[in-house]
Amino acid sequence: MDDKIAVIGGGPAGMIAAGTAGLRNKNVSLFDKNNKLGKKLFITGKGRCNITNDSDIETLLQNVIVNNKFLYSAFYTFSNYDIINLLKKYGVKTKVERGNRVFPESDKSSDVINALKKYLIDNNVKIMLNKDIKNIKLNKSGKFNIFFNNDSFETFDKIILATGGMSYKQTGSSGDGYKYAKTLGHSIVKPKPALVPCEVKEAWVKDLQGLSLKNVSISAYNKSSKIFEDFGEMLFTHFGISGPIALTMSNYINKYVHDKIEIYIDLKPSLSEDKLEKRIIRDFEKYSRKQFKNSLNDLLPSKLIPVIIKLSSIDGDKFVHQITKNERRKLIEILKSLKLTFEKFRPLNEAIITSGGISTNEINPSTMESKIVKGLFFAGEIIDVDALTGGFNLQIAYSTGYLAGLNC
Ligand SMILES: Cc1cc2nc3c(=O)[nH]c(=O)nc-3n(C[C@H](O)[C@H](O)[C@H](O)COP(=O)(O)OP(=O)(O)OC[C@H]3O[C@@H](n4cnc5c(N)ncnc54)[C@H](O)[C@@H]3O)c2cc1C
Repeated sequence: MDDKIAVIGGGPAGMIAAGTAGLRNKNVSLFDKNNKLGKKLFITGKGRCNITNDSDIETLLQNVIVNNKFLYSAFYTFSNYDIINLLKKYGVKTKVERGNRVFPESDKSSDVINALKKYLIDNNVKIMLNKDIKNIKLNKSGKFNIFFNNDSFETFDKIILATGGMSYKQTGSSGDGYKYAKTLGHSIVKPKPALVPCEVKEAWVKDLQGLSLKNVSISAYNKSSKIFEDFGEMLFTHFGISGPIALTMSNYINKYVHDKIEIYIDLKPSLSEDKLEKRIIRDFEKYSRKQFKNSLNDLLPSKLIPVIIKLSSIDGDKFVHQITKNERRKLIEILKSLKLTFEKFRPLNEAIITSGGISTNEINPSTMESKIVKGLFFAGEIIDVDALTGGFNLQIAYSTGYLAGLNC
């Protein structure tokens, strides 16, 4: 008779793992504490779900910045094109956007969840919702007793832990899997926030709350050494900065947070200082009879203008023809390197992913089986691997889920 398999966690990793195990005629039950599957998947990509990234495997691996070698086998066995094809089979057409990000054509994450649900149903997986697993114990015959919130328990031959990380706890990912794995003898690399917004000292960011800048460059310095630089989109918030490049930055500056970190935003990265000066001179000629505060609309989004004027210390009521060369230079300096002082990361619950988790040294990378406990498998964000934004974290979930489902 088939082994009895329990998959714990109905996120993308657990759904792919369970469906794949079911495909092999296993007796599979998928448990989730929520009343529906894929609660976190639902909010991915601002509800549009950046499913994966349309690039080659080497590029996928380069975008995994913690323990990428561990994923070699997983990515080659179940690639980005495998998930795209699987979703297509279940009715989800995809499209590719900036940065090779793949989205459902419908822009609806719910379509991805529904397709994965069909994969489960097609493969006879028993979907067990509202099942909050409280504990897992190995019994004397080497099987797993899974204890539920009402103190009842059920015995399984094998289990796949796919309980995710511990950010956005309201989605169900509360770090429970780390606890169970530890009880079963695994080491946990301390969970920390990753891809997380940054708080800064400068109070003026509050005035820019909600302002998204599409083509800017950010660099970060620690003791005058450059520790990060990237170009793209960022967002001002009431506490500091977020958006793709700010989130990416968080993964690179996290080892320097005990020192002072200065962040510089180049608001006009495509213009050298000379070119920017020429551009401003042109604008100032055009608006020479206007007040300074009314002369920057061609150059900057309106929300940014009062802040830049304040930081430049140039009187906003001054007529443009009265602005001195030194004042113009000061303005250019601010536009090319708007300074922010890093204070701290937002809390783990606001992070896009959790860094840390089950140590990769204790998992077989070709099967996702524990090297410590036979019959125990891991999949998804619970494992100590982290990737950048762009669909790479979901790809980790599907690829590791697939290997676990294939080998359990
Ligand atoms: C706001 C936001 C946007 C994101 N956008 C993207 C994106 O566009 N593209 C991308 O690649 N990545 C994105 N991510 C990251 C991505 O969502 C995660 O990396 C991915 O969901 C991890 O999948 P998982 O299956 O390992 O875990 P999860 O999706 O966290 O699923 C774990 C499941 O386990 C269940 N569970 C936990 N404990 C128990 C228990 N004790 N008993 C029963 N069930 C339990 C939970 O209820 C949950 O459903 C985003 C994350 C966030 C927070």
